[in-house]
Amino acid sequence: KLYNQIQEAKGNIRVFCRCRPLSKQEVSTGHNAVVDFDAAKDGEIGIMNGGATKKSFKFDRVYTPKDNQADVYADASPLVTSVLDGYNVCIFAYGQTGTGKTFTMEGTEQNRGVNYRTLEELFKIAEERNETYSYNLSVSVLEVYNEQIRDLLATSPSTKKYNSFLSLDNWLEVRQAAEGFHHVPGIVEAKVENIKEAWDVLQAGSNARSVGSNNVNEHSSRSHCMLCIMVRAKNLMDGVCTKSKLWLVDLAGSERLTKTDVQGERLKEAQNINRSLSALGDVISALATKNNHIPYRNSKLTHLLQDSLGGDSKALMFVQISPSENDLGETVSSLNFASRVR
Ligand code: ADP
Ligand code: MG
Repeated sequence: KLYNQIQEAKGNIRVFCRCRPLSKQEVSTGHNAVVDFDAAKDGEIGIMNGGATKKSFKFDRVYTPKDNQADVYADASPLVTSVLDGYNVCIFAYGQTGTGKTFTMEGTEQNRGVNYRTLEELFKIAEERNETYSYNLSVSVLEVYNEQIRDLLATSPSTKKYNSFLSLDNWLEVRQAAEGFHHVPGIVEAKVENIKEAWDVLQAGSNARSVGSNNVNEHSSRSHCMLCIMVRAKNLMDGVCTKSKLWLVDLAGSERLTKTDVQGERLKEAQNINRSLSALGDVISALATKNNHIPYRNSKLTHLLQDSLGGDSKALMFVQISPSENDLGETVSSLNFASRVR
């Protein structure tokens, strides 16, 4: 037992690095790949500059552009399913816009990502255990934009106001409940019984994301999209009930400001993204170095994730990168961020 506790304490944050393929456009415009996967099997990734390997980084896993969605999910699966054993779990995708965060998390209908595969597996295991446990699953879908929390499932007439981007006084807050759980009072928790219902809810949330913004893709790259799967379990043998949650987070793009963005709304957005991603890095590195003070309160993102980062919860970060020489600067900066976390 003690050995397990020690293992847990030092091993509860994993970092997986995933590199997307060169896009057709990058190929046709003659951009070279600068990423070296020779030691990918050992979790090592090299970044080349002018042919020579310049810098290498080590992670728990490295996925090359050839690895598919099933390969990636297979490694995440044990962590994901530990939410059914009562652990709080948090999975997030970090990286520059266009590197595959949404592809990894959401995926497409032909190429399902982590979110779908997770829900599918949770329902499957819950069914397999139905003689010993009774499970209830519910989902919430939130968006954090400019340090404000928006409930993407709040569509009933009384809560519809949350779906208006203009009514800034209706943003939600994080509170700590009596049992130490962090939650958002008033948030919609949609009870789901099977993968179809769950997926419909996630689609509804995803659709609500675009309400009030004139460019859906731009908007989604500047906000954090956060799914929360709440698991309530009852052990049918002894009647003990537990509650745990799994966060699946598609973070805002980590790219730095360009010279043309230095004013107005774009500047404010960029500063808020920067603030929340730095706060996330600070929290994780404080956890990794066993710091006593963990600065959860510095951003809405970390505050929301507070009970799923640290303690005996388990976290997984996907650091997503581009192979293109054109993105070298952002790639190195993402890899540095992710290395700090390990
Ligand atoms: P992000 O969410 O980080 O901005 P996306 O997930 O939208 O990036 O990915 C950008 C583009 O690259 C999309 O067209 C996506 O389908 C494609 N893509 C990303 N990762 C992969 C991958 N591993 N294999 C194939 N295509 C990918
Ligand atoms: Mg995206």
